[in-house]
Amino acid sequence: MANTKAIATKDKKRKESKGTIKQVFADVEFGFLVNNRCKNYGVCKIEVIDSLMPSEGKDKSCKCKSCVAILSYQENGNSEIAFAKSGMKDKVRNKFFSENYFKVDANFSTIIAENKSEYKTLIKIKKGRYSISETLGFFIVKFY
Ligand SMILES: [Zn+2]
Repeated sequence: MANTKAIATKDKKRKESKGTIKQVFADVEFGFLVNNRCKNYGVCKIEVIDSLMPSEGKDKSCKCKSCVAILSYQENGNSEIAFAKSGMKDKVRNKFFSENYFKVDANFSTIIAENKSEYKTLIKIKKGRYSISETLGFFIVKFY
């Protein structure tokens, strides 16, 4: 009984301090804009998509490297991205996930509209290095 109570208290605290978590499927483009092209390291664009299926079919106008992912975020702009390994191109894996950290060379921000609704959240990813944790299916990066 005592344990249950302790856990309940902990969960409540966690909720209060961090707020609601929202999650969407996203297509994440790597790099940042240099002369109209995405280059180097970082995040260039995050687009909300309908499922975690690799977007092989849709041919993009630019040659940006990208990856499907699950984006988790909070109202305060904290975010975490779980990059899906299935369908991830070797080039992407080698360039962005072969080290222990994910490099972001330029500040990035974007507005995420959940389910195309009016609820919009500003996501900010600061320039820096973020450690990557690897699971069976994902490379997970916490940007806060
Ligand atoms: Zn791009």
